[in-house]
Amino acid sequence: MPTRQPIVSVLGHVDHGKTTLLDQIRGTAVVKKEAGAITQHIGATEVPIEHIYAVCKQMIGSKKFDMPGLLFIDTPGHQSFTSLRARGGSLADLAVLVIDINEGIMPQTLESISILKRFKTPFIIAVNKVDLIEDWTVNKDEPFALNVRKQSDKAAASFDDKFYKIIGELYEHGYTADRYDRIEDFTKSIAIVPISAKNGIGLPDLLLMLIGLAQRFLEDTLEKEEGPAKGVILEVKEERGLGQTVDVIIYAGTLKKGDTVILGTKGKPLVTKVKAILKPKPLDEIRDPKDRFDSVKEVSAAIGVKLMCQSLEGVVSGGPLRAAGANPDEARDEVSNETKVNIELKDDGIYI
Ligand code: GDP
Repeated sequence: MPTRQPIVSVLGHVDHGKTTLLDQIRGTAVVKKEAGAITQHIGATEVPIEHIYAVCKQMIGSKKFDMPGLLFIDTPGHQSFTSLRARGGSLADLAVLVIDINEGIMPQTLESISILKRFKTPFIIAVNKVDLIEDWTVNKDEPFALNVRKQSDKAAASFDDKFYKIIGELYEHGYTADRYDRIEDFTKSIAIVPISAKNGIGLPDLLLMLIGLAQRFLEDTLEKEEGPAKGVILEVKEERGLGQTVDVIIYAGTLKKGDTVILGTKGKPLVTKVKAILKPKPLDEIRDPKDRFDSVKEVSAAIGVKLMCQSLEGVVSGGPLRAAGANPDEARDEVSNETKVNIELKDDGIYI
């Protein structure tokens, strides 16, 4: 059964390194242009499985996975995690919770964990900024599993001190967690991957753990859904030369140019037509700043795209999108219900 990429969100306390981690993941995209290179979507970054094979070669040899890659939502933080919803849960299938190893558990760390638990989103913890540990040997982009073996006794002892303090604190709050390479049963412990978002240390381990987590917990969710598109609105945006546009993540089905779509508004759902589906052009192909997008005929989940529609009146970010398909009334009801659920959850205080 073909699968789509899991959608991944990054959460954590302010300044613990969420943006740096996403920048690091994106960074490798822009520089390298080899086959299977990371590609920039609207509002998201795609890491294809070929890239993961390449950067994880030392760890996995020729092992292969039944998954096309990972799609990272570019906007970090639990606000975006909670406001981007699908099917009453989070749009994200998986999450990375970032903790600064030198600061440990902070209020927003705990808040993030309780949100992830509430949404039942499988997650891993990235313990970040290992490069700041005294005497730490930094080798850019190295898997943590290799990097850790090259450390002096002093650096290793300091790392263990800080690392086990975090595990202890998590335990006090009722969570069992351990270094990912020491876990036997992933259903019982939260996996922690030590990283340096700034230097790329541990990124291979992190990507691999996410793929592993998806294979273990998401097989059904990720089954590729045929049929009309389902998506979530990221943002309604005025785009120079294009007018009003809407950025969306499509998480199921296929969207075609000319499709009738139903979009969530504060009031009655808006029924409109897709005039254009736009993808960002690779950076080095942009000659004119006005010409930043490629227009495509059709896209399939999971993907982030910009849409031009006949109307976007009243459309709200965080709202649902459905292509009408053969059953427009049902699609409209779905949009209506989903919008209502979101508003109810908002009143329930789940929005941060
Ligand atoms: P956010 O608020 O969680 O998005 O945190 P940022 O990504 O903005 O990072 C906060 C600060 O920590 C910035 O000054 C980053 O450069 C720094 N930082 C993030 N990751 C690392 C890391 O791995 N090593 C070091 N030394 N600094 C980092």
